[in-house]
Amino acid sequence: MPYVDEQEVVHLFEDLVNVPSVVAYYPQIHAWMEKTLNEYGYSVFYDNKRTLYAKLEGKDHSKTVCFGAHLDTIGLIVRQVDPNGWIQVKNLGGVNFHSIEGENVYIHTRQGKTYTGMVIHQSHSVHVFDDAKDASRDVSTMRILLDEEVHSDQDVYDLGIEHGDLVSIEPRCIITRSGYIKSRHIDDKACVASLLEAMKCLKENQIIPEYDTLFAFPIYEEIGHGGAYVPSEVDTYIALDIGLIGPDYHGTEKSVCIGGADAYSPYDWELTTRLYTLAKTYSIPACIDIYYRFGSDGTAAIRAGQNVKAAVFGMGCMNSHSYERTHVSSLVEVSRLVLAYLMNEK
Ligand SMILES: [Zn+2]
Repeated sequence: MPYVDEQEVVHLFEDLVNVPSVVAYYPQIHAWMEKTLNEYGYSVFYDNKRTLYAKLEGKDHSKTVCFGAHLDTIGLIVRQVDPNGWIQVKNLGGVNFHSIEGENVYIHTRQGKTYTGMVIHQSHSVHVFDDAKDASRDVSTMRILLDEEVHSDQDVYDLGIEHGDLVSIEPRCIITRSGYIKSRHIDDKACVASLLEAMKCLKENQIIPEYDTLFAFPIYEEIGHGGAYVPSEVDTYIALDIGLIGPDYHGTEKSVCIGGADAYSPYDWELTTRLYTLAKTYSIPACIDIYYRFGSDGTAAIRAGQNVKAAVFGMGCMNSHSYERTHVSSLVEVSRLVLAYLMNEK
């Protein structure tokens, strides 16, 4: 098993998480990924729905194994502008509006400009509004306060901001001395970092997997269809995505969480068993859990009728879809399980 450098994975994560890639917004993250993967010695290509791929030839070309980690993060999309210049939004993916009140956001316009703002509630101040504490936080009550001199809807439109502009949320990434990563978008940038580190290790150590291996990076997972298209040669689709933590779960921030089933379907029995067995063989702390309100690109593929065996695993993530937390050690372990799988294919 090649050595996986913890510092490198963490730096990859910090870089990745600071490149905005809200659902459907790919220009910046694709540029970053192309540059990084080219440095590692991979060429990249895309399908029509903007999933980025890189390929590693195996010894046997009779089938293709695909590892996927989604580039997109939950975020917002501009819905309309109020007469006073506040921006109404719709969520992209499972945003918990309570967790983004007061957070900084970036509005990406179709002219290529980015404006900053912050998320507020209509009753934004406890000093002014009786219902500031108790009013519901949802699409109907939350707004974006633009950091520009705007006093009307027309002022906002005049800046080039339009309905349908995509809005990414500040990650606020902090790595503590004790090794905890606190950040938004650990889902799924931590898995992307782990997969990139494994891809780097494969090249550096000249590891040739048994079968042709495809690495897929979709941009629509958070709304459910990132992995809906899978190239026809793919036999096995292993999605890397966060694991859940809660009363019914064995998962922790320091473990690799393997999904036994999610809200849609159980994952492939033999494939999931193999991942769990490999984790034990390589002393990777791992568990299998049943995910409640969760889907992955693995089940997105199955749901869309793709003829693949699917599995999912990733680092345990506290506070998911909010300001999240995990531990650096689990990023390393996720990379190691990817490598263990590819070095032990039968
Ligand atoms: Zn995810």
